[in-house]
Amino acid sequence: MRGVPRTDRWMISDALITNVVRKLSRQTLSFGDAAHSVAFPEPDPGRRYLLYLHIPFCVVLCPFCSFHRVEFKEQRAREYFTALRMEISKATDAGYRFGEVYVGGGTPTVLPEELSSTISMLRAEHDIECVSIETNPDDLSETGIHRTEEAKVNRVSVGVQSFDDSLLKEMQRYDKYGSGAQIRERLKAVAGQFDTLNIDMIFNLPNQTAASLQTDLRYLTDDVIADQVSYYPLMTTSTTRKSMLRNMGSVDFSREKALYQQIVEHMRAAGYQRSSAWCFTRRQSMIDEYITEQDEYLGLGSGAFSFLNGTICASTFSINRYIRLAQSGQTGMVRQRMLDRIDHMRYYMLTHLFSGTMDLDIADDCFDGRFSHALRNELRGLKMLGAVRQDSRLLRLTERGYYLWVILMREFFTGVNQLREEMRHNISSEVRFSTIANS
Ligand code: SF4
Repeated sequence: MRGVPRTDRWMISDALITNVVRKLSRQTLSFGDAAHSVAFPEPDPGRRYLLYLHIPFCVVLCPFCSFHRVEFKEQRAREYFTALRMEISKATDAGYRFGEVYVGGGTPTVLPEELSSTISMLRAEHDIECVSIETNPDDLSETGIHRTEEAKVNRVSVGVQSFDDSLLKEMQRYDKYGSGAQIRERLKAVAGQFDTLNIDMIFNLPNQTAASLQTDLRYLTDDVIADQVSYYPLMTTSTTRKSMLRNMGSVDFSREKALYQQIVEHMRAAGYQRSSAWCFTRRQSMIDEYITEQDEYLGLGSGAFSFLNGTICASTFSINRYIRLAQSGQTGMVRQRMLDRIDHMRYYMLTHLFSGTMDLDIADDCFDGRFSHALRNELRGLKMLGAVRQDSRLLRLTERGYYLWVILMREFFTGVNQLREEMRHNISSEVRFSTIANS
């Protein structure tokens, strides 16, 4: 690479890394299908797990979105919540104990009273410290999120994406969720009502300019004064690329790094700390969307993933099948893949360094003292790329490393989204036309 300017070399290495991670995550996430539901893996006695619940209903199906979501139909969603509570009871009976709950979607607040009953049930049976939910701007009202002690929600994460009206229109969110100004007013109205109010934003949207991004950043830090901001890079899959091209234009990844740097500089100057490669907080101890202290979690509901004992499990994406399985006393899990030891270590490194640091002694303890030796080539490569520096046994991401981790995580989640898409392909008739559960 002699003779190639340093910035060009980095761009070439970024492109190479993108391709390598894309291939690796496809290999890691290739599942064998199971005709029958599989039992929950055995829980560790005395351990309190993170529970993820998936609510796959949305009033608007945004063109850029790769999450597992279907068009909202009230009766259908009520049947789904009932089935979900059955699966939660099954997990409790199997010995699982939960200390933390994260409800994602879709839109978990499409039926607030159903969500509330589900949280109340969990709080009654488990010693829950923290409940986080995702929601949309128009569910922030008093009626949208229940705030009783039994159904108490500690952390709310609002999908805003941008305050720019023309981008909101392209994303088909303007008509449903209102203008950027209306969304800001709703956010300010609930400020201080939860332990943490997180705002989800997206950068590198096709028609997003540096000026539009800068305006959004100022609104976040000077007007809304968000507790926490998760600024996701735009992630695409083969299907969303087509629908985005129709509605929003084509994606240009070569702009991503400059926009990321713009975000980092603004948030830093506004006094926010980076709690992961793309999450910024005003105070310490807030949790990021994807990273918690818990390495393992149980995911329940249609389209949920679990990571338990080195095994990735996926639940059926068919709402019909999910309801039938729950009604007959079975789990919704239909696919499992056990990671080999090296892949498990790589997954550990990917998720832990996302927070900015990783302690090699703790990593060695988790893997019988073998982590540092087994991943010596990866660790050497990261140092050669200038992505990490080592203080004693602590690895820290450098500025270059933070952006590298944006690429790595973007590609990892793109792999997850691609898998979601393949699984959703089998239920295309359910996505827009939710019919009766026993069809
Ligand atoms: S972005 Fe949010 S509201 Fe839009 S379809 Fe995806 S999950 Fe639903």
